[in-house]
Amino acid sequence: MFMKKILLLCCFCTTTYAQLPQQSLRAGGIAVLPLPSNVQQVSYNHQSVLITQEQNQKYAVVGIPLSTPVGTTYAQIDTQSVPIHVQPYAYAEQHIKLQNQSYVQPSSIQLERYKTEAQEQHQIYTSFTPSNTLPQFIAPTKGKFSNSFGRKRFFNEEERAPHSGLDIPAPVGQTVIAPADGTVVKTGDYFFNGKTVFIDHGQGLITMLCHLSEIDVQAGQTVKQGEAIAKVGKTGRVTGPHLHWGMSLNDARVDPQLFIAR
Ligand SMILES: [Zn+2]
Repeated sequence: MFMKKILLLCCFCTTTYAQLPQQSLRAGGIAVLPLPSNVQQVSYNHQSVLITQEQNQKYAVVGIPLSTPVGTTYAQIDTQSVPIHVQPYAYAEQHIKLQNQSYVQPSSIQLERYKTEAQEQHQIYTSFTPSNTLPQFIAPTKGKFSNSFGRKRFFNEEERAPHSGLDIPAPVGQTVIAPADGTVVKTGDYFFNGKTVFIDHGQGLITMLCHLSEIDVQAGQTVKQGEAIAKVGKTGRVTGPHLHWGMSLNDARVDPQLFIAR
């Protein structure tokens, strides 16, 4: 009888608390820092950091930007500086040929459009909605994906920003689902990203789904994990149909694979 009670209690624990993302101490990775129970505030690069609980332990889940050099960087836990040791990581290179030269050398009008869009996206990434939970994640569409996150990219041999999401090759029209519970904060049609949906999962954790052919949700709408929200497409700067799945944590674009079951 006593054993049965313990087992029941344990089952309760695992369903009550979120599964932490996988820690990966690299640029584009995640640091999971155990916290004393009385901690009030964690920040990193002047951004508030997501705090969650597993079993009876509190953790800070810190996104490490892709631009972070190898070495030691610091998170602020209340008044204390706590080191994060960023390790080397060899991201692959990708050389892409684009027919549409305006995606390589945008005109001044296109650059102006991009600047406005980047500001809008920056506002979403730096927002912080209070929440006590860290939702569980699944892939937002069917398909095999390789390690496309973090690739150094050359468009028609000109180096551009590294690839900040995970590409899932899939046919135009395939259903895209919400990878986790959240609130749609913005939808739009962007120069590089094409038709895009942003979902806020709370505490600065944002999903971005790009190059869609169709968007079936609106800003302000709450979504449940697995709910159909859009269709795969090839809008924006693409070489073929696929879903680009980006995840941002404390304004750092991190590898979405760290959030899905190992
Ligand atoms: Zn992509």
